[in-house]
Amino acid sequence: MKHARLSPSSSHRWANCTASVAAIAALNLPYQSSGAADDGTFSHTYHEHLLRNGQPAEWALGSTGKINGKEYVVDAERCQRLQASLDYIRPFITERAEVWLERAVNLFYDDGNGYCDVSMYIPETKALHVFDYKDGWTFVPVQGNEQFRIYAACLYEELIEEFYEIESIHCHVCQPRVNNFACETLTPDELTDFMGFIQTQAKIITETPELCTFVASEKACTWCDLGRLGQCKAQAEQAADLIQLEFDDLTTPEPVQTLNPGQMTPIEIAHIYRNIGTVQTFIKQMTARAQELTEAGELPGFKRVQSFGNRKWTDDDEAIKFMKGTLKLKRDQMFPPKPVTPPQLEKIVDFKTLSTRAANRLSELITRPESSIIVPMTDKRDALPIIADEFEAIETTTTIEDDFDF
Ligand code: SF4
Repeated sequence: MKHARLSPSSSHRWANCTASVAAIAALNLPYQSSGAADDGTFSHTYHEHLLRNGQPAEWALGSTGKINGKEYVVDAERCQRLQASLDYIRPFITERAEVWLERAVNLFYDDGNGYCDVSMYIPETKALHVFDYKDGWTFVPVQGNEQFRIYAACLYEELIEEFYEIESIHCHVCQPRVNNFACETLTPDELTDFMGFIQTQAKIITETPELCTFVASEKACTWCDLGRLGQCKAQAEQAADLIQLEFDDLTTPEPVQTLNPGQMTPIEIAHIYRNIGTVQTFIKQMTARAQELTEAGELPGFKRVQSFGNRKWTDDDEAIKFMKGTLKLKRDQMFPPKPVTPPQLEKIVDFKTLSTRAANRLSELITRPESSIIVPMTDKRDALPIIADEFEAIETTTTIEDDFDF
């Protein structure tokens, strides 16, 4: 299957970096399906089948299928992923719901069509729901996701023509591997605005190529063939610009004063951080390309030299014999006791079959280390408390004398 030039799945790239379409076409790359894509296709097939027939994922356990000559199986893990998605989707289906599986939709901005994994119209609430199953490990954000919105918009247009009344549109992602089940809700006006933007970008690409521009960004360049091959000049120039920041342009209503004139201000750091992913992607892709060129002896001024990784046994069985026989090591010294992790244990024991007592004890024994990530203020998740504020609160209520018995 060849992907459309302006496919929904690559829409984030072409809608933002309009020049990428012609630049990629000029590479004339042969179409290649990846193992990961085939693996996802296999999951999709069963996802559809199970929903269509109202079966639990367990029904498919052990089923196999071949894609591009390789055999795939519905093992326990795939089964769990499928069930998690079914559990998320099924409660949305009301008595009067109209449900479509793998519905083909015409792209509203170009020739060709796309397929919605699962879509449904809920007459009770006049709501249109579109679900996209993702089987990979890379977290797919639902907010502002062009691909999901395009599927929803295509279907919205078709249903409106058939006189459906739609008051809200809900784009869902079902990504069990990273426990990402989330929804973005749009009003018809918001969806129409988005459609206008996509139509404009598609028109520029197809009718006025001279107006196309290169716009590098972390997400677009990561999934772009030109970037992946480390061959995009525009990306290199923009990454270089980002590194040589024009600090004079960074204005703030209330400039932050620092005691040291050589010290960067928070606003400057925020500007760099906002663009850091783009630069990191560029560096990663450049490193891979430089490696390839050096291996071929084609990177001027560079050569490959020997380097060594961490030491490891040439033969595990022989190493054990040596440690036991010659070095007289005890079992604990050779194999420091380390229990399996909770996810590894779950592959051995089905947690759902445990008694209440055992399940309670298990949950007492499992913890999830807390950490935090930095996201833009526009992100919908609640912000964690500011650590400096917490510190102040502690300082005002606790003195050293409270803690120590002097
Ligand atoms: S690598 Fe980035 S800037 Fe270059 S064409 Fe691709 S998306 Fe555009």
